[in-house]
Amino acid sequence: MRLLLFLLFVYLCYILLKSRRKSSGNGVTPFKDIKKRADDIMVFDPCCKIYYPRKDCIEFKDKKEILYFCRKECKKKFLEDRKKGDFK
Ligand SMILES: [Zn+2]
Repeated sequence: MRLLLFLLFVYLCYILLKSRRKSSGNGVTPFKDIKKRADDIMVFDPCCKIYYPRKDCIEFKDKKEILYFCRKECKKKFLEDRKKGDFK
């Protein structure tokens, strides 16, 4: 009998936690949607000087920053230009 009560208690806790989690989600965007939205973020292409959807970009990770380019050629050109600049 005690075990049954204990199980009931655990079950009630579970229901409470579940409903609390659900209610806290009200008005807040679920994580999945946030991730989806982040994929549609516009990023700046420093080569063409335009904004481009991040999901279609070529990503380049530097030591201190992440750069995005609309094409491979852009990335190459920008890095070459920057390299030249360093030697000035
Ligand atoms: Zn570009």
